[in-house]
Amino acid sequence: MARAYEIGIAGCGPGGLAAALFLHRLGHRITLFERFEEPRPVGSGLLVQPSGLEVLETLGLAAPIRERGARIDFLKGTSIPSGKRALDVRYGALRGDACAYGVHRALLFGTLYDAVRAEGIAIETGRTVTAVDIDTGGGRFDFADGATSARFDCLIDALGARTPLAPPSGRDLAYGALWATLDWPHDVSFLDDALDQRYRRAHEMVGVMPIGLRPSNDKQGAAFFWSVRADQIEALHAGGTAKWRDTVLALWPETAPLLDQIADTRDMVFAHYAHRTVRRPVSARFAHLGDAWHSTSPQLGQGANMALLDAAGLASAFHRHTDIADALAYYAWLRTNHIQIYQALSCVFTPLYQAGDGLRPFIRDQLVHWFAGLWPARNLVAAIVSGGIGWPLRPMRLDGLGSRNAAPVTTSGP
Ligand SMILES: Cc1cc2nc3c(=O)[nH]c(=O)nc-3n(C[C@H](O)[C@H](O)[C@H](O)COP(=O)(O)OP(=O)(O)OC[C@H]3O[C@@H](n4cnc5c(N)ncnc54)[C@H](O)[C@@H]3O)c2cc1C
Repeated sequence: MARAYEIGIAGCGPGGLAAALFLHRLGHRITLFERFEEPRPVGSGLLVQPSGLEVLETLGLAAPIRERGARIDFLKGTSIPSGKRALDVRYGALRGDACAYGVHRALLFGTLYDAVRAEGIAIETGRTVTAVDIDTGGGRFDFADGATSARFDCLIDALGARTPLAPPSGRDLAYGALWATLDWPHDVSFLDDALDQRYRRAHEMVGVMPIGLRPSNDKQGAAFFWSVRADQIEALHAGGTAKWRDTVLALWPETAPLLDQIADTRDMVFAHYAHRTVRRPVSARFAHLGDAWHSTSPQLGQGANMALLDAAGLASAFHRHTDIADALAYYAWLRTNHIQIYQALSCVFTPLYQAGDGLRPFIRDQLVHWFAGLWPARNLVAAIVSGGIGWPLRPMRLDGLGSRNAAPVTTSGP
């Protein structure tokens, strides 16, 4: 390796942790900064798509996801009261044994975090990053307590969608969702290999997804979510849990054993989404990664995967280029098309599932019905959801990239 760089990464989400592992294994010296003092199992379920799983495979970290997560072969949704299919994704339409894994967010976080600790990568917790000072040769992070980090050759912003290190961009979406992590109801016939949802047009949506073993009690778990407009969340709480429960039961009566586990709507976590993409994701010594670069609604289930793909792209770039500016430019080149495609797809699909009424949900139900019977369309839908449209992994040449001391390959440009 030509030179080991000092690299500072702000944010210990999936993106920051995966980037730290990849770059450490390439021989660079990494320090992670994170605002939490101690990691806690926050959040609920997410889908690790085949593309994200491939990145974890490269890092040698896919086994815990397969062993503790829930294998997902289908994404399904039904319009109420028509009973029409409103979502129909079959991973089996893809080549090989493709599937997604439903996991608690803590499983993905814990798998990456434990690996970072085991490899001795420096983590400074209790550090709230507020700003970054970049010059031609490197830079530093500033913290909320007035302190400043050591100087780094390269700095990475992996602070998530609300990063203070990027200029404001995009917009908050009207809808978010209430999430809860619950015990899997064994006495009710929920599909244990599918994320399943019920919709009333596009203004009501309830979903259930198996997530494998819960981190809190090692029992089989379910992620439960209820779509709600951000400006109606307080009215929902004020209306009382019993009234909300009746609304959910009218949409999907079988959710009763799940609702029995929710004493108060305020026990659920409200997640509000933003649709944004940073225009200039890299400069000569600084780059955004994951949700800090691009974020969107979780309708396509891509956020964690995109962060993992960014981390793999960054590693691929540092593997090929010894100059930091060249590496960051190559990273941006590797990832930009794929990100643009998925941001556009999200803009198209989100209003079909989370919006007011009107014609959109009607068109959705007709299209899904038609698509489901058509083999090329079935494959296309599965490819979209798997994260594979645009072949993001192909130019990265991940083989051996996640192993320690991967030999660098240097080239002159993209
Ligand atoms: C409800 C919900 C459901 C989702 N479902 C899916 C799904 O099914 N599939 C999927 O792929 N994605 C899903 N996502 C999206 C996914 O969780 C995110 O896209 C993914 O976590 C992004 O990873 P990241 O590392 O870029 O950022 P984050 O996971 O947001 O990590 C950012 C890290 O930075 C830390 N941080 C933030 N600000 C500061 C600061 N100022 N100083 C220091 N540290 C800071 C945070 O504590 C955090 O550890 C979902 C998201 C939500 C909210």
